[in-house]
Amino acid sequence: MDNITLNPKTVWSEAKKVLADELPARTFSTWFEPILPIAINDSELVLEVPSQFFFEWIENRYRDTIEMAVQEQLKKDITVKYTIATSGSVESPAEQNAQNTNNSRKKYRKTVINENYTFSNYIEGANNQFAKAAALSVAESPGEKSFNPLIVYGGVGLGKTHLLHAIGNSLLANNNNYNIICASSEKFTLDFISGIQKSKTIEFSKFYRRADILLIDDIQFFQGKEQTQEQFFHTFNELYQTGKQIVLTADRYPGDMKGLDDRLLSRFNSGLAVDIQPPDFETRVAILLEKAEQNGLSLPYAMIEFMATHIKNNIRELESTIIRVLAYSSLTNMEIDEELIKKVVKERLGQRFVSEITIEDIVRRVSEVISISEKHIVGKSRKMEYVEARQMAAYLCRKILGASLSSIGMYFGGRDHTTILHACNNITNKLKTDKRIKQIVNSIDSELSATTL
Ligand code: ADP
Ligand code: MG
Repeated sequence: MDNITLNPKTVWSEAKKVLADELPARTFSTWFEPILPIAINDSELVLEVPSQFFFEWIENRYRDTIEMAVQEQLKKDITVKYTIATSGSVESPAEQNAQNTNNSRKKYRKTVINENYTFSNYIEGANNQFAKAAALSVAESPGEKSFNPLIVYGGVGLGKTHLLHAIGNSLLANNNNYNIICASSEKFTLDFISGIQKSKTIEFSKFYRRADILLIDDIQFFQGKEQTQEQFFHTFNELYQTGKQIVLTADRYPGDMKGLDDRLLSRFNSGLAVDIQPPDFETRVAILLEKAEQNGLSLPYAMIEFMATHIKNNIRELESTIIRVLAYSSLTNMEIDEELIKKVVKERLGQRFVSEITIEDIVRRVSEVISISEKHIVGKSRKMEYVEARQMAAYLCRKILGASLSSIGMYFGGRDHTTILHACNNITNKLKTDKRIKQIVNSIDSELSATTL
């Protein structure tokens, strides 16, 4: 074993053989295939895992198993450490020096950009269409259009990092010789600070200024860090002036950030800022279908809809719901059925579960089920079928959300609370006699209601 001791790939592939023998096949493929060996020395092996959730899962359940498998290979004590791929870590100058510089660049390109984040598996919806189009255009002709810098902004878990890395992957796939530097702003900051500490600021700036394409994730972390911003400003200017492409992501519109240098802001204004919004229902369904397929999981459509109805604001959560379903079934040998999925969704949402459903969702669902537009449901028309739909929706809002009569009234075209009360009573009565209404109301109720979980 001695001759391969210092090759992380070989060590890990040997350890994997042991793990594959010991663990159920599905557990192995879910949790161990995606792990990448990054580095090794006398006392540590560093493995890269795809996400924070993945890390926690491994850490809690398989830490010892993995460590033992590795130790068995090397016949000595060794600690296994993890890094998370999605943060877009970058090899800093110091790390680069530590490596064999000849092949470091190739390796570096491989590990820094998360291979799983591509344009082809980025589901497009009204919420992210513009951002995706801008990113694609940048990937096709970096530095050439007026999208420089391109700034993608939006809330947590909506796909900013994914787009950033998709640009990187697309450029790599086209086999050009661009030097792509991809880092989180935290990493940029840390590199800068460690540059100061080691009196290597020149190396630091050289490293970043060599980029043909600079991808920096989460620039909101630059807020209030004056010296780092100063450095970033100079890097930015140099790259910008030589026509190099810069792409940045942020959790809010850059103009809304406090503690950001005015010079930087005005630089940002010269490019294009595009936002990503939370996905609508159809996009959530499409994303879930894609993630299920990626994970080799086939789910009945109704279950996909159920997840998409309840988990809304964060795509990372949609994804980890699928992974959790897989995890549960592989751990407990439970069938993947409605019960398991409801259990996982409920667990994911916890307290937020009820509050995740809104009056708007209920109206939308009624509208979908009986094919009457939402506009008519909340509108003024007295046409019988509209009135009936309106009353059912009002009843369901009361029943599922416990919303007040006046807040429901407000949503339904500014109606008065007595009108809503009348609507609710009317449906309560009809449920006893009208089979059709009963069927519609009960099915929406059980689909959306927390009590069914
Ligand atoms: P952010 O950086 O905005 O917090 P990420 O890019 O890390 O979000 O996305 C969170 C997770 O959701 C990632 O695993 C990513 O692959 C996935 N994701 C986000 N948007 C999409 C999309 N439109 N299609 C497919 N997967 C997506
Ligand atoms: Mg991100």
